[in-house]
Amino acid sequence: MTTPSPDARLARIRNIGIIAHIDAGKTTTTERILFCTGRVHKIGEVHDGTAVMDWMPQEQERGITITSAATTCFWRDRQINIIDTPGHVDFTAEVERSLRVLDGAVGVFCAVGGVQPQSETVWRQANRYRVPRVAFVNKMDRTGASFSRVLDDLREKLGAHPVALTIPWGEGDAFLGVIDVVRQKALSFDPATRGTKITESGIPAEFADAAQLAREELLEALAENDEEVLSAYYGDGVSDALLFKALRAATLSSTLLPVLCGSSLRDTGIQPLLDAVVDLLPSPLDVPPVEGVRPKDNEPQTRRASDDEPLAALAFKIATDPFVGRLVFVRVYSGALRKGANVWNPRLAKRERVLRLIRLHANQQEELAELHSGEIGAIAGLKAAATGDTLCAEQKPIALGRITFPDPVISMAVEPKTQADKEKMLSALAALQDEDPTFVTSVDPETGQTIMKGMGELHLDILRDRLLREFKVQARAGRPQVAYRETVTATAEGENLFEREIAGKPQYAYVKVRVEKNARGAGNALDLRISPDLIPRDFQPAVEEGLRDGLSTGVKGNFPLTDVKVTVTDGRFHPVDSTEIAFRTAASLALRDAAEKASPAFLEPLMRLEIETPEEHLGDVLGDLNGRRGQIKDIGERHGMRLVEAEVPLKELFGYATTLRSLTRGRAGCSMEPSRFEIAPGDVGAES
Ligand code: GDP
Ligand code: MG
Repeated sequence: MTTPSPDARLARIRNIGIIAHIDAGKTTTTERILFCTGRVHKIGEVHDGTAVMDWMPQEQERGITITSAATTCFWRDRQINIIDTPGHVDFTAEVERSLRVLDGAVGVFCAVGGVQPQSETVWRQANRYRVPRVAFVNKMDRTGASFSRVLDDLREKLGAHPVALTIPWGEGDAFLGVIDVVRQKALSFDPATRGTKITESGIPAEFADAAQLAREELLEALAENDEEVLSAYYGDGVSDALLFKALRAATLSSTLLPVLCGSSLRDTGIQPLLDAVVDLLPSPLDVPPVEGVRPKDNEPQTRRASDDEPLAALAFKIATDPFVGRLVFVRVYSGALRKGANVWNPRLAKRERVLRLIRLHANQQEELAELHSGEIGAIAGLKAAATGDTLCAEQKPIALGRITFPDPVISMAVEPKTQADKEKMLSALAALQDEDPTFVTSVDPETGQTIMKGMGELHLDILRDRLLREFKVQARAGRPQVAYRETVTATAEGENLFEREIAGKPQYAYVKVRVEKNARGAGNALDLRISPDLIPRDFQPAVEEGLRDGLSTGVKGNFPLTDVKVTVTDGRFHPVDSTEIAFRTAASLALRDAAEKASPAFLEPLMRLEIETPEEHLGDVLGDLNGRRGQIKDIGERHGMRLVEAEVPLKELFGYATTLRSLTRGRAGCSMEPSRFEIAPGDVGAES
């Protein structure tokens, strides 16, 4: 056997994500893919809690996918690395970080539900990362399934140009298989073999026109975008090889969206989908070289996908495995990771050793000696690396762009039941925070309680559950509350003279600062450019720390100050008595003095809501939103239902799902996601 050339190896890799609205069938489809490719020999079912991808106990009980388990399988000699992304809005950060490291994606849609709100959100995220996609219209076996309506949705709601590669052989109860549009064959999937035995036959007469039309549409769409196809189309005819070459180019540029259909539950249409992944989605060679900067001078750098380039890998997820311990999931962009070798972390300016390299198959693991450019895997043994960090060659350092995560919007106090639980709880919370960048904990300075903050009620609920199950911590949880912030609405100056004896030694520092509004959503900005004649350079880091202390708890409540610009305007020191602690304290108190005078206000999180309701309940839904300080952004129509888009303060949304159900006798559906922070009116925020 000869070793393949490096590029031939890379060309055989597909790093893909499966993205969709919750319940569209991502998990079931992933299970079937693993089965068809021979990785699992028993098919798990979401509804009986045995799905391989949903391996955390909470996921199996709740029937949802929380973590992005990375799984490798092989199809037609190609290595497919799949990340199963969650569909629930409370976990968009998981989707975001997966998209960042993937090269292509399969969008799974429900043949009955069509393009639902959450898939629109994820689709826009994928657009932002320019991820080439194919679509799979799942659940063709369900009553009310309509392939053509989903195609309309893809056009209208997602602005895509769909082209069908398979069309359904019947719909709903009459769904018998799929029709291969390119080869003009009908395919049926033998249920006795779980769809692994496929029978090809001629197209049944009643589908002949539809199949022919679909092929014409595909060729015309290709001819529009490709000269070679155009001349072949009017000449000798378009060969399959030319067709796939042109379709691959159109998929990579997102000009066309190849669409396939099937029913994962009935093991139908999976193999043609795998063929499309292999034939049409990009390999690491098809995506542009990864970009970053040289840490010492921020000079832009790129790295090609090649083992010959210096190492550049991105840590995109941290997980704690009961057997291996802390696992850092990485995408290797260039170079190779080797077991036992050192990697450089430019953020920490720190070297760490790769103890073990692991490739994952859901909850099973395979040990590797090397992880090559283009691959996804996990490292055991790194203690310091965090989500979003770059791991690179020490001699050729590069910092890849960081992954950004939204700020938490909801908080909940947790109280350990016993003193013994307290220590366990703190270390468990630290481990959970390490895994999840949208989960933050803090201590309430007034009550001393531990506060958990996250992206939604479900998010915190699941984390609390994990405390109990995985870490065996007995803890009581408080009511979930809105995580407010504070800001200033005016400009003001404040000062502090710190002159005191501590342990018999005199201390001296004087700091004066100005605070003013920063743009909404821009965060805080510190301007520390002050003459060393006023504050000596040695003390300036202490001043900065003091300002950060001051910003960390607000002046109206205990919420962090945000969107504030701070400028140090004056200072004084004493040649003997000035100390770091004096400057740190003076800076913090000066900042609070200024913030109190600058008309401070609470900021509250607003959520973006999408509600699908029958026309007859529209009035009630709108009236109720009004009572919740909701702003109606748009009222449209979808599948004969009215679609309301609104922005509503999170404070007004606790228990909303229950209210909506009773308002509409269970017929409306709703999805929400954090939108932005805005100044809270009147007393909002003061109650907490
Ligand atoms: P996910 O939330 O996108 O991961 O969706 P799941 O894979 O968990 O599926 C949601 C529900 O739809 C489960 O009850 C599945 O059994 C069911 N389901 C998945 N695929 C199909 C299908 O092709 N046909 C039908 N009828 N049901 C399906
Ligand atoms: Mg799932």
